[in-house]
Amino acid sequence: MKKQFAVIGLGRFGGSICRSLTNNDMDVLAIDSDEDRVNEFSSIATHAVIADATDESVLKSLGVRNFDHVIVAIGDNIQASILTTLILKELGVAHITVKAQNDYHEKVLRKIGADRIVHPERDMGQRIAHNIMSNNVLDYLELSDEHSIVELIASKKMHDRTLIELDVRANYGCNVMAIKRNDDIVVSPQATHTIREGDILIVIGADNDISRLEKHLLMD
Ligand code: ATP
Repeated sequence: MKKQFAVIGLGRFGGSICRSLTNNDMDVLAIDSDEDRVNEFSSIATHAVIADATDESVLKSLGVRNFDHVIVAIGDNIQASILTTLILKELGVAHITVKAQNDYHEKVLRKIGADRIVHPERDMGQRIAHNIMSNNVLDYLELSDEHSIVELIASKKMHDRTLIELDVRANYGCNVMAIKRNDDIVVSPQATHTIREGDILIVIGADNDISRLEKHLLMD
């Protein structure tokens, strides 16, 4: 059976999630208190309804408790975001993802039991900053406050050298999880694997260690 999603708040973030889910053939209930936003999504989502998500009886009547995953994408109105999350939690929704506006907002959301808290602007800012600092960094995924996964392009300095020669683990405390060359991917490469300039490396490590690796191995 198809997974059922509900997206509450159809701003840029919620709207984009809604579009992506429906493009991937998922069932999506789109909810917003603004009529124009709902009209915009009536031909995109499976169902689109005008509703105030802070009204428990409305969420109940929409059967939101039966959805597999609810995304709360109310940004500016922190109070509404918290209250909505609390109601969803009390209704027993299986999985709740909430967009946080700031660290305080995140702290409250954690306390009331949001399963996943996202900071789209902050996360995207970080990813772009890493890409701007070094053109060799393609992507950056924050795992926790201190650990990340980066996707980087092997530089000239790394060309024709094996992982053991570069000693990424001992020198930088990072692990190379996979190496991609054109369409071939080597998962968990051996220490003897030789890197070529232009290979794409997926590296996991502490942020400080990744920064040192970027500085020493990627920048001229
Ligand atoms: P984004 O940064 O994602 O573009 P935005 O700044 O455009 O968001 P916000 O004000 O953060 O918009 O809110 C996102 C949406 O949430 C808006 O369309 C707004 O109408 C809706 N919204 C706000 N409060 C409620 C509520 N209580 N119930 C339902 N929808 C709400």
